Amino acid sequence: MLTAHKIALNPNNRQRTYFLKASGIARFAYNWGLSEWQRQYGEWKEDNTRPKPSQMALRRQLNAIKHEQFPWMLEVTKNAPQMAIIQLGEAFKNFFAGRNKYPTFRKKGIHDRFSLTNDQFHIDGSGIRIPNLGWVRMHEALRFTGKIMSATISRVASRWFVSITVEIPEQSMQPVAENQGAVGVDLGISALATLSTEEEPIIGPKAHTALLNRLTRLARSLSRKQKNSQNRKKTKVKLAKLHAKISNIRKDALHKLSTALTSRFDTIGIEDLNVRGMMKNRCLARSIADMSFHEFRRHVEYKAHRRGGIVVVADRWFASSKICSCCGYKLDVLPLSVREWICPTCHTQHDRDHNAAVNLKNLAVSSTVSACGEEGAGFDRKIKVKPASMKQEVNSIATYG
Ligand SMILES: [Zn+2]
Repeated sequence: MLTAHKIALNPNNRQRTYFLKASGIARFAYNWGLSEWQRQYGEWKEDNTRPKPSQMALRRQLNAIKHEQFPWMLEVTKNAPQMAIIQLGEAFKNFFAGRNKYPTFRKKGIHDRFSLTNDQFHIDGSGIRIPNLGWVRMHEALRFTGKIMSATISRVASRWFVSITVEIPEQSMQPVAENQGAVGVDLGISALATLSTEEEPIIGPKAHTALLNRLTRLARSLSRKQKNSQNRKKTKVKLAKLHAKISNIRKDALHKLSTALTSRFDTIGIEDLNVRGMMKNRCLARSIADMSFHEFRRHVEYKAHRRGGIVVVADRWFASSKICSCCGYKLDVLPLSVREWICPTCHTQHDRDHNAAVNLKNLAVSSTVSACGEEGAGFDRKIKVKPASMKQEVNSIATYG
């Protein structure tokens, strides 16, 4: 898929003069090509044994005469006249296909521009290097990664821009999510994740639960072993192995979950840190949860991005568990042991994790609305042109857009 990124330039005076000259030469070549095309087409109509005009032939003809007739063309990149004639060929192609009107002559001062093939410039960070001109500063770095195909330098009012065409591999873009809207995801330890939908919590692989129980027992037995004893060392090794095993199982399960979520929902709300990882068997379980959580976040973000979706990450101070998702009432405290509670104001009965997931969903929806003024399809279109590297922090909520 070809895509273009237009970036403002900061040329110095010498570069500005060069841009004007190259644009003028491109315009001249285009107009020369158009009048030659018309003349040669007239000749072909008179006598069908004569060649029909083509951009290839015109480029050859121009190259043959430019040293003699237009020596000033040699003062800028050879791409300027050549690409202009290729563009003339495209204009005729579009005209013959019924996509466009008959090509017209370019006028000075109207969309002044010239193009470069990818062997005639080099991009590095926020600079573009053009032979015989040196580095020109760009206002930002190129957003897309892929094969750089060409660049067009153009003038809008008194400002110069470069539009860089990049070929993005097809497999890196995927169809947009099924339109199931937004979802909030509450990650846990025993239940892998609870969604804001009416679905049952995602428990994860069976082995996961069994291993978690073993982990608890092993951690307990370790604490009973004497310091520096052989037995303690052995148990430590066992524990480390079990730790790795569980985290692999979780990683795999969360990988699948992130794929499923991003293919179903275009807006996903998650938490910054799994603060509620501090449930049972603190240290170990928590470190496992944190580790897999970071993986999960990374996966959800890049997978959502590939589909033009959005991930809203609530910061660690967002009280996802303590806020009533019905009326917005916020509890002062909610002990970790309390799995269900009833809102004192609106009397809604809440499952702790599900309520947290609904709050994350609501946050995701409200921040996408406030970020662009509308929800849903309009935002989705807007998102598609922005890559993951354009991540912005909006009110401590990380969003793509
Ligand atoms: Zn309430």
